[in-house]
Amino acid sequence: MLELANCVRCGSVFARDYRDICPNCHREEERSFQMVYQFLRKRENRQATIQQITEATTVPESLIIKFVREKRLQPSQFPMLSYSCRNCSNQITEGEMCADCKNEMRKELDVARELEEKRTAAAGVKEQRTYYNADRSAN
Ligand SMILES: [Zn+2]
Ligand SMILES: [Zn+2]
Repeated sequence: MLELANCVRCGSVFARDYRDICPNCHREEERSFQMVYQFLRKRENRQATIQQITEATTVPESLIIKFVREKRLQPSQFPMLSYSCRNCSNQITEGEMCADCKNEMRKELDVARELEEKRTAAAGVKEQRTYYNADRSAN
C-alpha cells in the first residue's frame, strides 16, 4: 500500500517504502556513505575515530553513527568507530545504550513489571469474587 510520509531529514512528502527518508535524501546518504567508506578503506585511516572521519569527509557525525548502527560500518573492521551511549558518556559500537544502562533499564522494567503483576493479581482476586459467574469470553 502506498503511504505518504514526511522525510525525517528534509521534511518533504514522499511515498514511503521501508525507509523513513525520501529518495533524494537517500541518495545523499549513499554518497556520504561512499565518502566515509572510501576514506576508511585506506590502510592509514582504519583507526580513524568518528570525529576524524567527520573532519576529513565533512559527513556529519550523526550520519556516520547511523551507518555504524545499521552495521554498514563494522566495528570489527574499524575498531575506533564508537559513539556515546544515549544515556551516559560510555562509548559503544552498537545499539543506543551501553551494557550498563541496558542492565539498569532492565532492572527498572523488572521492578515495574513486578508491581504491575502484584496489582493485577490483587485486582484479579477482587474481580473473581465479584464476577465469578461472568462470561469469560466477554474479556
Ligand atoms: Zn528528504
Ligand atoms: Zn550508558
